[in-house]
Amino acid sequence: MSTAELDLLIRTRRDLHRHPELGFQEHRTAAIVAERLRAAGYEVKTGVAETGVVGTLRGAGAGPTLLLRADMDALPIEEECAHDFASTHAGVMHACGHDAHVAIGLAVAERLARTRGEWGGTVRYVFQPAEEGGGGALRMVEEGVLDGVDAALGLHVWLGMESGVVGVVPGPFMASAGTFEITLRGRGGHGALPHETIDAVLVGSQVVVALQSIVSRNVSPLESAVVSVGTFRAGGAQNVIADTARLTGTVRAFDVDACAELPRRIERVVAGVCSALGAEYGFGYVQDTPPTINDPALAEAVRLAAEEAVGAERVRTDPDVRTMASEDFGEFLLRVPGCYFFVGARNEARGAVHPHHSPRFDVCEDALPVAVDVLERAARRVLGGR
Ligand SMILES: [Zn+2]
Ligand SMILES: [Zn+2]
Repeated sequence: MSTAELDLLIRTRRDLHRHPELGFQEHRTAAIVAERLRAAGYEVKTGVAETGVVGTLRGAGAGPTLLLRADMDALPIEEECAHDFASTHAGVMHACGHDAHVAIGLAVAERLARTRGEWGGTVRYVFQPAEEGGGGALRMVEEGVLDGVDAALGLHVWLGMESGVVGVVPGPFMASAGTFEITLRGRGGHGALPHETIDAVLVGSQVVVALQSIVSRNVSPLESAVVSVGTFRAGGAQNVIADTARLTGTVRAFDVDACAELPRRIERVVAGVCSALGAEYGFGYVQDTPPTINDPALAEAVRLAAEEAVGAERVRTDPDVRTMASEDFGEFLLRVPGCYFFVGARNEARGAVHPHHSPRFDVCEDALPVAVDVLERAARRVLGGR
């Protein structure tokens, strides 16, 4: 990468880092993206899914339509990093690396524009709002960004791997995420007269324990799933038996069938416990994101691109690269073949060790030019030559 290109890449990332914006509020970010894409020769559409930007560029010959995606949103976190480009917006921080994704995306978009005489097909560069729980990907799908798309590629800078290492795995790559809410209704009463009550704390406790059997006894040992109870609220006084309890939690899975089956299993466990103890229940479930599942042929294209860019010894394809974290790029991959991959950004010497969503999160910036190289090469492989 030339010094000028690297300088622009890092400056862009730091500028975005200083000015983080929450989901569907990425106005400044979107304006920067739209201006740079227009200047590079893209046909630009703004206001897609509120603050999203889509740039389209045709190559020199026939070929597929390739969607490339960068997410733009920050998180409601107060930054604790000491570097001189820390957030200037109180309570908002790029704590997942989406600032890097936008900077990388613009660099790749500009490279593809400079080389448009050498590749065929069409690039649709999607800068997406609200990845962090806002459903931005699905909104963009509903507004037609996948129309005519043959393949999709995206990446995440990743603190789970050393800076500059690339991780790409065919098949399931990141898990689905769903949220459940269980309300339990017993019969409250005096803490000294339990025989006259149905204790919602006891019912809730039995539910928490019984839910552990789903992953250990219903899910195949060869599959991966998580059922975690995150909150358990009940009672208001030490000498009163609680009338109601409310539990919420998260469900993760790699498999589309498991995603559909897990909420049914959870409800069956809750119903069984309540029936045994004489309590009533309410059950709600929201599927937040589908699993992110990579197409084998496109994962292979990314692997080859990564080997060219960084050498085979810095490309990981083992299953440990995968994570039960979720990512709404899965919405695209549910509908078109594609590949999502990680570019390691961990660097102990530079203090880039804190996990995603930590107030001290930072990325090793050496990962950014690597990500640009790999994504551009992967895109060129998919688009084909003239
Ligand atoms: Zn995140
Ligand atoms: Zn993220």
